[in-house]
Amino acid sequence: MHVVSSVADVRRIRRELAGSWGLVPTMGFLHAGHLALVERAAAENDHVGVSIFVNPTQFGPAEDLTAYPRDIGRDLELLREAGADLVWTPPVDEVYPPGYQTYVAVEEVTKPLEGAARPTHFRGVATVVAKLFNVFQPDRAYFGQKDAQQVVVIRQMARDLDFPIEIVVCPIVREPDGLAMSSRNIYLTPEQRAAAPALYRALCAARDAWRSGEHDAGRLRQIMAGILAAETLAEVEYVSAADPITLVELEDAAAGALLSLAVRIGRARLIDNVLVGW
Ligand code: AMP
Repeated sequence: MHVVSSVADVRRIRRELAGSWGLVPTMGFLHAGHLALVERAAAENDHVGVSIFVNPTQFGPAEDLTAYPRDIGRDLELLREAGADLVWTPPVDEVYPPGYQTYVAVEEVTKPLEGAARPTHFRGVATVVAKLFNVFQPDRAYFGQKDAQQVVVIRQMARDLDFPIEIVVCPIVREPDGLAMSSRNIYLTPEQRAAAPALYRALCAARDAWRSGEHDAGRLRQIMAGILAAETLAEVEYVSAADPITLVELEDAAAGALLSLAVRIGRARLIDNVLVGW
């Protein structure tokens, strides 16, 4: 496994190793959710590239950029076992050198949900992913359904900017009690950790209601909000039942919906989602 920090080294190794390439972009502090993406990429491609980069442009000024957890030694061990061939761990000024001034703005699908709560987030995400696509030039790129809006934004960007890359979406990997795995779960105290499965409980209750014929999207949002309200440590940012393609809030969910939510528990801002009818 090659571990490099410069763009030039990624390009050189990319050229030297013939065959198909899968790319897995990450911010590190890896868990089983990330490793599932790497394993899928290894199964579907001759070579796997992984980036580990805590991308400053996708963090807002009041967010956890400096506190974001890191453990590069452990990450590299896990990636070696999972079958990565090339890991790029660039310093910030390799990605954004002095004088950097170009950003990718995806318009409509970045406005609601996470984009409303984090106004500059997707500009940073789209920019860094566009750069990763250009640096690695992979055949396929692997993303988790955990960040459902990110998937919609990246698909839109790849289509609009003609990136010849297949976007592969992998299912959410969860802890045994249902909590979606996230690097940010490390912020939770034991008491907060015990409260965190309320997110998935809320989503499952709305999904079960939808399956039983409740297709009023307002009611589905109420069901999620009701379950989260019972958890005193959970501070709800939003609950949503939206169109899975446009991300516009629905009134009628009969044709299916992306059920999603964002909740603060202590220092952690947690997101989760389930798709119904898709
Ligand atoms: P991050 O390091 O948080 O930027 O995540 C890197 C990639 O891993 C993104 O495509 C995420 O959607 C994906 N990912 C993170 N957590 C999970 C999870 N629990 N299950 C599946 N994919 C995940």
